[in-house]
Amino acid sequence: MRRLLAAVLCAAMIMGLSACGQEDGASAEFYAMDTNMSVTAYGGDAQNAVDAVQDALYSLDLHLSRTRMDSAISRLNAGASLPAENTDISQLITTAIEYSDATDGAFDITVAPLVSAWGFTTDHYQIPTQKELDGLLPHVGSSHILFGEERAITLDAGTKIDLGGIAKGYASDLCEQILFKHGVTSAMVYLGGNIYVRGSKPDGTAWRVGVQNPKNAAGFVGVLSLTDGYAITSGGYQRYFEENGKRYHHILDPATGYPAESGLTSVTVVTPANGDEHGDRPGHGTMCDAFSTALFVMGEEKAVELWRSGAYDFQLVLVTENGRVLVTDGLADKFEQEDGSGYAYETISRNPA
Ligand code: ADP
Ligand code: MG
Repeated sequence: MRRLLAAVLCAAMIMGLSACGQEDGASAEFYAMDTNMSVTAYGGDAQNAVDAVQDALYSLDLHLSRTRMDSAISRLNAGASLPAENTDISQLITTAIEYSDATDGAFDITVAPLVSAWGFTTDHYQIPTQKELDGLLPHVGSSHILFGEERAITLDAGTKIDLGGIAKGYASDLCEQILFKHGVTSAMVYLGGNIYVRGSKPDGTAWRVGVQNPKNAAGFVGVLSLTDGYAITSGGYQRYFEENGKRYHHILDPATGYPAESGLTSVTVVTPANGDEHGDRPGHGTMCDAFSTALFVMGEEKAVELWRSGAYDFQLVLVTENGRVLVTDGLADKFEQEDGSGYAYETISRNPA
């Protein structure tokens, strides 16, 4: 299901690209990290940049995947210690814990055993019994991730981690650096619902990023005009199964072990790019990914509260179950409503009316 939707979205993006003008560019479409990906780049050493992006994403997949038995994450989950020299992965885990703290645990990479219990790791979906969930919940929580000498990481017995809610965002941060290093001036990177755009389109206009209508795979609730930034969406429509007429999706509430039911059907988080000097550290792409998952769990009120706190630099498009699209005021001149979508649109400002 998710793959199909990703393909539809890809098609929409690429439609936009074909109107980009004549400038020489390079592009690739491929499958990694369990999703469709595409990258299109112009300027500088575009072809080598696209190749390097693809290599980096395959290699990140090898390190971070929970379904590959030989990945660093699988070894950690099997009880091994993650040596301190794996600095990229330990930085990512440290960042994930920061976002857990910032969201009162709504984002939590230790949901891994719950994700498995629902079958989302293998696509053999099932509803776990309450007894099974009760046995797993005590192992969920960032405090079960232990930092030893030189910050080598181990996990408490029974705890496992799943970077599915953050890995593609981190991957998009790495893409920004790779494109910068190859002198690319204009690019769009699509990593299954996670988008990074570099510069503007070669014709000088902003990139256009559709925000999917959660109720209609082929439609949008609106379009974002973006330059140098990230737009990352989480939605219950991206991966789910149905049983007895009820839908169970892949974003879990770490507090209950059940798919989150917060009244939101999708959360899009938008931030500026990291900038060329940022390096390989997790940046805004990682933050967007963590927050899109977390805010989906937290629901409208807490999501808006976190945005209003100003603690982190991001903007939001929230779609609610009851037919509203909420757009934070930082996107006022960047978000175009979709006529005839059937949604009611509201702008959210810093100071509540
Ligand atoms: P997608 O991977 O579809 O783009 P998300 O970024 O929202 O969507 O990530 C969902 C994935 O994150 C799930 O498949 C699961 O692996 C993991 N996950 C589910 N619930 C949570 C949560 N509350 N906190 C952190 N990770 C989660
Ligand atoms: Mg996410």
